[in-house]
Amino acid sequence: MKAVTFQGPFKLEVKDVPDPTIQEPNDIILKVTTAGICGSDVHAYDGRMTLPPTGWSMGHEYIGEVVEVGPGVTNFKPGDRAVGSFVASCGDCYYCQTGWPSQCEKQQFFGFILLGGAQAEYLRVPNGHYTLEKVPDGLSDEKAVFTGDILSTGYFCADRGEIKPGDVVAVVGSGPVGLFAQMSALMFEPKVVLAIDSMPERLEMSSASAPSLSICRASTRSRPSRNIRKAEARMSSWKQSESSPHSSPASSMCAPRARSAPSACTPSLNSPSRCSSLSSATFRSRSVSAPSSATWASSSA
Ligand SMILES: [Zn+2]
Ligand SMILES: [Zn+2]
Repeated sequence: MKAVTFQGPFKLEVKDVPDPTIQEPNDIILKVTTAGICGSDVHAYDGRMTLPPTGWSMGHEYIGEVVEVGPGVTNFKPGDRAVGSFVASCGDCYYCQTGWPSQCEKQQFFGFILLGGAQAEYLRVPNGHYTLEKVPDGLSDEKAVFTGDILSTGYFCADRGEIKPGDVVAVVGSGPVGLFAQMSALMFEPKVVLAIDSMPERLEMSSASAPSLSICRASTRSRPSRNIRKAEARMSSWKQSESSPHSSPASSMCAPRARSAPSACTPSLNSPSRCSSLSSATFRSRSVSAPSSATWASSSA
């Protein structure tokens, strides 16, 4: 089969490599129909991650069709469409059993030297019975492929951030994982999500990706550490404003959005002064208390 192989920094080649075969009872062989390029691949590509140029195949974001299953697999059969995690996990160890499969004692990473990558025609998935999920009919490859890495990573950030309704949430980084962390954070009904990045085009994408929700933009030109300090100061003054209902610090915190009109203030924001102080962002209708804490969700991309 053909696969994208790593031949050293800035040197990738599509080469013929051996077809993968069933090696363990729970192995599954996928015919890859769509594969993504992760930021982690770029780290290897541009030499930031020092790896031997031995021609190993790359890629760990994938979706495909099951073509062969090991004798221990009972939940998949040839012809099933499946998407998988970037790391193969066993499903039996303490970490897998307690909801931390990425910490699996027997974890194996796709596309990094030891295990074949998904930017190939076929992929061997160890522990495929646990690592893969079936894809519902009607869901395109282009959407489903996100669930294996960047969407699940972003959601994991939001989930483990323990966001409570009414919290102020900052997501540091608005790359692909950051976008999903922002969208996921909104599911937990925070008061506002601050999208932080130094690249204006990424912040534009943050706004576009959640047009009906409240994404508040932070500084775009400073270094990330400075942005974080600014956001901390802003959240601190925001919290103070909650105890002083007539102050309006939020109006200087967030870039106003064109569609944010006074009418966007919902009945839950029932104080006119409170309404004007928060009108720079469009808040969803909800009955929540004032921000009880600031939650930070850190994303790597
Ligand atoms: Zn990745
Ligand atoms: Zn495990």
